[in-house]
Amino acid sequence: MTFKDLGLSDSLLKAIEEKGYTKPSPIQEKAIPGVLEGRDMLASAQTGTGKTAGFVLPILQILDNGTEFRKRPIRTLILTPTRELAAQIHQNVKEYGKFMDMKSMVMFGGVNQKPQVSQLRDGVDILIATPGRLIDLNNQGHVNLRKVEIFVLDEADRMLDMGFLRDIQRIMTLLPERRQNLLFSATFSKDIKKLANGILTNPVAVEATPENTTVEVIKQRIIRMDKPRKTAYTIKLISEGDWQQVLIFTRTKHGANKLCEKLNNKQISSMAIHGNKSQNHRTKALAQFKKGEVRVLVATDIAARGIDIPLLPHVINFEIPNISEDYVHRIGRTGRAGANGVAISLVDNDELAYIRDIEKLTKQKFEKEIIEGFEPPHIDEKDIKAPKGNQGQNRNKGRSKNPNSKPGNKKHYHNDKNSNKGGGNRGGGNSSGRR
Ligand code: AMP
Repeated sequence: MTFKDLGLSDSLLKAIEEKGYTKPSPIQEKAIPGVLEGRDMLASAQTGTGKTAGFVLPILQILDNGTEFRKRPIRTLILTPTRELAAQIHQNVKEYGKFMDMKSMVMFGGVNQKPQVSQLRDGVDILIATPGRLIDLNNQGHVNLRKVEIFVLDEADRMLDMGFLRDIQRIMTLLPERRQNLLFSATFSKDIKKLANGILTNPVAVEATPENTTVEVIKQRIIRMDKPRKTAYTIKLISEGDWQQVLIFTRTKHGANKLCEKLNNKQISSMAIHGNKSQNHRTKALAQFKKGEVRVLVATDIAARGIDIPLLPHVINFEIPNISEDYVHRIGRTGRAGANGVAISLVDNDELAYIRDIEKLTKQKFEKEIIEGFEPPHIDEKDIKAPKGNQGQNRNKGRSKNPNSKPGNKKHYHNDKNSNKGGGNRGGGNSSGRR
């Protein structure tokens, strides 16, 4: 199957060729024809599968074939949970629509609204936005969504996690009734299904094809560790392994800052990205990390969501996520596109219950290593319970057990031209202050 076989126009094919893509990814093969036909779509795919092109390419084609609107009313609205994802999609829209007369803009909070207002005034075909600023500018009378023909809700699961349900519902009231709707989500909880039912009409369902190859390329190491010794061990790993590009996950913003400071004190250059960091800081941190100017990026889960960092050799779970699906997302940051990657999880006694949940979700039993000098205190199996402050059994409440969530079930697509040395536009961070 080629992009041409999918019925894409010459100007899109030219842009795709420039990007260096040789063939469509599985999600693209499935999504593009349905979108071109004007169908509503429910797509199960996460970042890394090539899902963005899966909806952006056919949307561009539809708009390009559409009636000419001299004043360029907004004809497509793409709603995303984070600013970085919005910026990333906008970049893709610009690249794929390079040989078309298409105007697009990205809109998010945390930056001056004036340039956004003036862009809106000049006319926009495709608007990529996070919910907060969109509602804000709409309330001020700067945005008119009455001519939207295609509405995309990207990373719908994360939208709900971040508490955007009411905003989404409000935005829906601003859209015309007749429109094409596309909903993308990595997981499908009851809430997502309910949301999808409310938005989509007779949708085609598409899924990124599960691939088993990734399981071999992502090596997962689970190391039981004495909690106070985690930092020392992390420093040892990075220095002795001479690792030059490491993504480290913490559960909290405070934890990210603290670790970052300690690494910097040991001359391991690090930057943190999380919800309390300014947009500028987050963009800068990610750009420097991608260029290799900063060795370590310390991130919280939401902050890292949606960012595409190809060919990342090392991921460390400094703290284990209390939401098992986040583990899958985290390790998906390594071993992209067939490259070898190692995901190391440092597990203290308080986190053993999380590992047990992850084993259940991913249907695998980890071999747990113990490193001399970093051993955790002895603990009996029967004493393993959820740490205080979590809701035991309900930790995974609201998340579905999507078969695609298995670590081995993801195949990542990336473009060699966009490799980690290339720098780029991909951001990391989020607009929520929660994690
Ligand atoms: P996404 O899942 O949309 O975030 O895309 C992940 C990465 O895959 C991005 O760097 C895209 O540029 C790249 N990509 C998308 N489609 C293809 C393709 N057909 N072939 C190679 N790389 C692709």
